Amino acid sequence: MKSLIEIPKKMKALNLHGVGDLRYEEVDVPELKEGTVLLNVKACGICSSDIPRIFTNGTYHFPTIPGHEFSGRIVAVGDGVDESLLGRRSCVFPMLPCRKCRACAKEEWAQCSSYSYFGSRQDGGFAEYLVVPVWNLVPFADTLSYEEAALCEPAAVSLHAVNIAGVKKGDNVAVVGTGAIALLIGLFAKRKSETGKVIIAGRSADKLENAAKMGFETINTAEEPIADGVKRITGIDGADVAIEAVGTNEAISNSVKAAGALGRVVLVGNPYEDLQMEKNVYWSVLRKQLTLSGSWNSNYNSRVNDWKEAISIFESGTLDLRSLISRTYPMSEYEKAFADVRDRNTFTLRVMFTI
Ligand SMILES: [Zn+2]
Ligand SMILES: [Zn+2]
Repeated sequence: MKSLIEIPKKMKALNLHGVGDLRYEEVDVPELKEGTVLLNVKACGICSSDIPRIFTNGTYHFPTIPGHEFSGRIVAVGDGVDESLLGRRSCVFPMLPCRKCRACAKEEWAQCSSYSYFGSRQDGGFAEYLVVPVWNLVPFADTLSYEEAALCEPAAVSLHAVNIAGVKKGDNVAVVGTGAIALLIGLFAKRKSETGKVIIAGRSADKLENAAKMGFETINTAEEPIADGVKRITGIDGADVAIEAVGTNEAISNSVKAAGALGRVVLVGNPYEDLQMEKNVYWSVLRKQLTLSGSWNSNYNSRVNDWKEAISIFESGTLDLRSLISRTYPMSEYEKAFADVRDRNTFTLRVMFTI
């Protein structure tokens, strides 16, 4: 083992002791093992999935430190680890697959039947330090900030959806949703489509205004049927690709309505309730002969690596990532940070802890 710092015994963390019982407290610094590094966490985003995890559903066991969207600096390396990683900045692929199941045999980690996960099934990034296997590290250049790099997890999820949709040059793309994932999907779709129109559709006027500032075409679906909006913007009936990033009946219907004949529809949003579809919407899936695909997490394998692709696009400096980070807080102000995300009376995209 080799270290750049005197490793402390204790650290500050946000530790979940039960549903709704998050405490900012001192815990033991985890122990470095062979094949792992000690990451000094610098930034960790609050994902919308952290809200039910902390306030209504809980984690798999208590206590657990949540947080799965993080970046930091490698301050120590365990035995057998390349010492050139010392001092490097890195993001972390948060999944720890079983490596025994059929999906794992194909490196389809997101479909692993028995995985662990930083920030839900085991301790995550709302802490000063975390021990991470080398395999999970996604190092990045010093020119990229920790805050921007902490967007790599939602970015990889977004890029995965764009890759599943097979967005290609000239495609018109309609994204249903106005949150951080929807905007990241829009940004990646723009890079792949180049000359096509990329539309952000939703009902929240201030979020749509933000999307327009970022250079997207927008449709306010509270005021204009989405199919009319697509025609107004593209001059054609229906988009080549529609990507749904909300998880409600209305948004899924809108993604079907936005797609043109033989279009591709990719579903990303997590539903919060049972879903139903109007007969006419379902019918249009048949009539337009749409291809519907689900998208889950991201690819991180030797064939396709959404994480490496996302981080190299980040490093190129061509994406407006700052616009996605609404606010940062120290961990001690966690109540304010979660209130910002949970209560939805303030406009936020990503709220982040800087540590
Ligand atoms: Zn997340
Ligand atoms: Zn597995």
